[in-house]
Amino acid sequence: MSGGPYLRTLFLHPPSYEGFDGGAGSRYQARREIRSFWYPTWLAQPAALVPGSRLVDAPPDGLALADVLPLARQHELAVLHTSTPSFPHDVKVAEALKAENPALRIGFVGAHVAVHPEDALAASGAIEFVARNEFDFTIREVAEGRPLADVLGLNYRTNGTVHRTPERPVLEDMDALPSVVDVYKRDLTVENYVIGYLLHPYLSLYTGRGCRSKCTFCLWPQTVGGQRYRTRSAERVVEEIARARRLFPQVREFFFDDDTFTDDLPRAEAIARGLGRLGVTWSCNAKANVPYATLRVLRDNGLRLLLVGYESGDQEILNNIKKGLRLDVARRFTRDCHALGVTIHGTFILGLPGETRETIAETIRYAREIDPDTVQVSIAAPYPGTAMYREALDNGWLQGQALVDGRGLQQSALSYPHLPGAEIFDAVETFYRRFYFRPRKIFAIAREMARDRRVMARRLREGVEFVRFLAQRSR
Ligand code: SF4
Repeated sequence: MSGGPYLRTLFLHPPSYEGFDGGAGSRYQARREIRSFWYPTWLAQPAALVPGSRLVDAPPDGLALADVLPLARQHELAVLHTSTPSFPHDVKVAEALKAENPALRIGFVGAHVAVHPEDALAASGAIEFVARNEFDFTIREVAEGRPLADVLGLNYRTNGTVHRTPERPVLEDMDALPSVVDVYKRDLTVENYVIGYLLHPYLSLYTGRGCRSKCTFCLWPQTVGGQRYRTRSAERVVEEIARARRLFPQVREFFFDDDTFTDDLPRAEAIARGLGRLGVTWSCNAKANVPYATLRVLRDNGLRLLLVGYESGDQEILNNIKKGLRLDVARRFTRDCHALGVTIHGTFILGLPGETRETIAETIRYAREIDPDTVQVSIAAPYPGTAMYREALDNGWLQGQALVDGRGLQQSALSYPHLPGAEIFDAVETFYRRFYFRPRKIFAIAREMARDRRVMARRLREGVEFVRFLAQRSR
């Protein structure tokens, strides 16, 4: 089997903790409350640029190390996507692949290695190179067999010496990237991708990269994506969804996983109108400041759900993290979504700088008051490369605790003199219980289940997983 002028290239999201949602599409990497997997879009993108390549996403496919080892002999180049929590484990996978086929060339990509490329190379002799930041065309050039010294955006090793090539310019023409949906079709099983609040099966992709906001905790805009929203044209997006629908007639919902799809409102409306003509159901990430008029256009053209980062119910914390959001605006936005029948999955973070016992209680009160349909509660994760990480270092808030424990569950790496990490950890469970174990929420879930048998089967399974998750955390 030959990839023509290209090296036979494997794009691998390595096997990791059981049920670990930490692939090339996961913004924070951990095992979730209920089994979840995002699409490995950041890996699918270079795979779409390298003819004859193969993308293997081990965790959703339930593949263990023994299952992926034979791939080492079938390929000349392996590109592994890694993350801060999974890095030590991913290095072991790289070493096992190298032992299986010593001629295999191995490179790492992802925000973690973009931030500390030298450390990543030093971690193991099995890693020949690290591609920094936006790595699509970097990897294509490596796969073309070019000398690494001629490829921008790399740190690499030759004969025991480490080199760094200049930065690759940020990609401006997003339409230059081929669609990922053909790689999805060739290599992935869409039924294996599950997100509790999205219809199943769902399909997600990006229509642009970067976010205009400057939230101090948020990894991608401060590393691989940048703080401008660079977009594909509305026509290309609508064409891509039309093609995806032909390729995947079973998909019930399309999700635009751009950091903030609503950063460009006229474009969001233009795409919505095109999707409305296609008659698809779709959803996206949004900031809690979209005006009513735009929400109505989106809703009238198939928008079902918005994934909204509220983060905190305390204005001072929102200011500390530079969220650029006022609580009164978020309240109005949420009321508008309720009035229009747009479902909201709201995400909150406990333990952000400025958090106290009182602000945690206030955030729980706020969540109950604005009442998104579902919530996700995370622990503040100080990823290297973010402003929040530097702030935590400067203030001595890092106590040497990793971002996840030995089972891949989130733990609090931040600890404040007035609020220890253990209390932040415990507050997550209190939040979930106080939000979900209310008659209003239980009736809403029961009503949803009664309407659709498929939803009933799924919610019952998720309910069991959720209770098990709470039990595991208290162990
Ligand atoms: S608005 Fe969302 S995606 Fe953008 S920087 Fe803030 S948290 Fe990140």
